[in-house]
Amino acid sequence: MSRRVAALMKSRGPYPLAKKYDLKESEIINLASNESPYGPSPKVLKALEAELGSIGRYPDPSARRLKKAIAGYLGVGQECVTLGNGSDELMDLVCKAFLNQGDRVLIPFPTFELYEISVRLYGARPVFLRLSPPDFGWKADALKRAAKGTKLGFFGRPNNPTGNGVGLDLLRQLLKSCGLVVLDEAYVEFASGSAAKLAAREKNLIVLRTFSKAFGLAGLRVGYAVGNPRLIEVMERVRAPFNVNRLAQVAALAALNDRPYVARVVNTIRTGRDYLFRELDNVGLRPLPSEANFLTVDVSGWRMKSADFCDVLARRGIFVRDLSAFKGAGENYVRITVGTPEQNKKLVVELKKLKEGKKWS
Ligand code: PMP
Repeated sequence: MSRRVAALMKSRGPYPLAKKYDLKESEIINLASNESPYGPSPKVLKALEAELGSIGRYPDPSARRLKKAIAGYLGVGQECVTLGNGSDELMDLVCKAFLNQGDRVLIPFPTFELYEISVRLYGARPVFLRLSPPDFGWKADALKRAAKGTKLGFFGRPNNPTGNGVGLDLLRQLLKSCGLVVLDEAYVEFASGSAAKLAAREKNLIVLRTFSKAFGLAGLRVGYAVGNPRLIEVMERVRAPFNVNRLAQVAALAALNDRPYVARVVNTIRTGRDYLFRELDNVGLRPLPSEANFLTVDVSGWRMKSADFCDVLARRGIFVRDLSAFKGAGENYVRITVGTPEQNKKLVVELKKLKEGKKWS
């Protein structure tokens, strides 16, 4: 084992496995993984069927058609886009491309754990900045101070699991303090305003995006990074040539070509988010404002720990995420993915029953 991997393994436990419940797959409503409950557009399925006969051949290593479509979607040049096997891979590629042993990397937390794993794997050192409950706010002074002298910084916008993120003004200031700013916009379609165009112009900003969330393609693994052509060229040089497979390229292209479908999904999820926010509040839980397709909720008003809250719901067939496994989230928060209107209603009905009956067991 390399020294870097040994250090990583020493610094953190294995990924927590989901607890097993005696339920049939069809009985489960999974609101724990921030996937789209609708999956991709039917046009994606058609395009995939048409491509099946070609899977004996390698994909286009430059993914030209998909890059062109993404560039058009964002209003940037094709040379400002590179693709990854999910945005997960792009986090790894950013670290591989730009970090040296011992470099300091700012990671405000609680946040997506892969930032830390990628940083440690390349022998760099995370510099953590705690976002504090109850609102997990992004405080400009503390952020700018922490960013000083760091080689890179990872910022979720919206951030998983807090649902909030840095404003554009603060982002511009961070660009002055941080060597390279990596902005993870996995959930940006549900929010208001991407920094992708800014990334194409700035000298030290990379925006990561994905087809896993609003476009409903989590299982096919397609993400992309946007930045100025010099940064993107470096990432292009370090990626594997066929990192995005043939079916993934075809599916992402078809998904981008059915923009009305995604607009409907996003609208429905936003409406569902507002509905859940109100109803969670009504039953005495405390949801945080969110710009993503999930709500993070303080359950301490029910005098329960997050693990018990998730367990009680799971036994009723509804899976939500216990955030106590997220560094810095404490034991009071759970994360609930917005589902279909029917799934959201079912959750609310169960919560009301639980509240009335106090039937915790
Ligand atoms: N960024 C964030 C903040 C996420 O929550 C996730 C997945 N849940 C990802 C990136 C990974 O997305 P992808 O499927 O594109 O690898």
